[in-house]
Amino acid sequence: MTKEYSAFDQAQHEFDKVADMMELDPSFRSILREPSRALLVNVPVRMDDGSIKTFPGYRVQHNTACGPAKGGVRYALDVCLDEVKALSMWMTWKCSLAGIPYGGGKGGIEVDVHDLSQMELERLSRRYFSEIQAIIGPNKDIPAPDMNTDGQVMAWFMDTYSMNTGHTTLGVVTGKPLSLGGSEGRHEATGRGVAISALNAMQKKGIDPKGATVVVQGFGNVGYWAAAILHEAGCKIIGLSDYYGGIYNADGFNPTDAKERAMCEEDSVSNLLTGKKISNDELLALECDVLCPCALQNQLTKENADSVKTKIISEGANGPTTPEADKVFNDKGILVIPDFLANSGGVIVSYFEWVQGLQFFFWDENEVNNKLAQLMNRNMDRVYDLSLEKKISMRDAAYWFAIDRVAKATKWRGIYP
Ligand code: NAD
Repeated sequence: MTKEYSAFDQAQHEFDKVADMMELDPSFRSILREPSRALLVNVPVRMDDGSIKTFPGYRVQHNTACGPAKGGVRYALDVCLDEVKALSMWMTWKCSLAGIPYGGGKGGIEVDVHDLSQMELERLSRRYFSEIQAIIGPNKDIPAPDMNTDGQVMAWFMDTYSMNTGHTTLGVVTGKPLSLGGSEGRHEATGRGVAISALNAMQKKGIDPKGATVVVQGFGNVGYWAAAILHEAGCKIIGLSDYYGGIYNADGFNPTDAKERAMCEEDSVSNLLTGKKISNDELLALECDVLCPCALQNQLTKENADSVKTKIISEGANGPTTPEADKVFNDKGILVIPDFLANSGGVIVSYFEWVQGLQFFFWDENEVNNKLAQLMNRNMDRVYDLSLEKKISMRDAAYWFAIDRVAKATKWRGIYP
């Protein structure tokens, strides 16, 4: 029987590859390869019909050497401990690379939210948060939304924690609604970060953003904002797509023309804009300066990598490029901005939300956007410089930078006792 290659195996494999390159001290390797803490909880919920159902839940803290754990909570039937461990490890590298004072964490409940009423969802969320409260707190571990959790769930989490401790604690979760300590600019932060990274890469490649051609796959939260902000910067958005198909126009689109109906999934972006209808495969093969895959994982593969004709790839989605395609792009000299760098705008503005919540002092949207641009550009420059210095890909350089920071923090802190 062949052993299945799990998400956590993959996370460890990626870590090992770069740890080898860095010749990382084996004693640090053994610390960083595993999560430092994993909590399993069994969450009982009284259903609307009076019966009681239980749901398995998890919270994993991979590493807290650089600060409290940070990471989302997802509700899905296929959530399992292995996946949550992998996601928490990836959060450690993402926060480290972002240069924010967090470690990595992740949580989840094995549940199909479509089977629950709103009241059942609220009882599930509140009981789960009470169950994990022992390891949660604004200075310990700060959850956020992920798949099937949103601002409402974060509001219940925050209220549950606040009721249990006896005082309102805004900093215990991020991704809260604006009226409850959320941050300006959070909603568009991930797409904005994808656009800022692409603009930074254009500068490095000597491409003038005015009139530079851009193709965006996926027209949801990340894809729309990436396209809209690049359009605002003067780029020509020549290709867009969503689940239903793509559209091409050499003269360029204004993405805001399709925003309302496409983002509510009332219609496909390919019906809402004027141009030539194309398939998603054709979209990825369009000749352009920048390609932003912002839909889902495994879109750029060994099968289509050779047909990709872009100079820059800014990965909005998580894992859109397979390792084989990544190699083809590096060989071709395409500058690939890896997902955990390009899409780190969301976690960076989550950090800003936490800082504002701890201070009970809130910034306006301009201040948030300027601070985001400052961090994104700094991080892009660091990774780019390291990739040149070590003669490695942007992805390997990003991992190198992230792992090195956590290893150094661990070394400075020493092993207690
Ligand atoms: P979303 O659900 O708002 O949008 C997804 C878009 O992709 C939709 O337009 C959908 O129609 C399109 N799509 C789905 N399948 C497709 C296909 N086969 N071909 C082309 N388009 C397809 O999701 P989102 O929040 O924009 O997230 C997109 C990606 O970015 C995901 O991989 C997510 O994990 C990642 N991400 C999101 C955030 C965030 O803050 N939202 C942060 C980090 C990473």
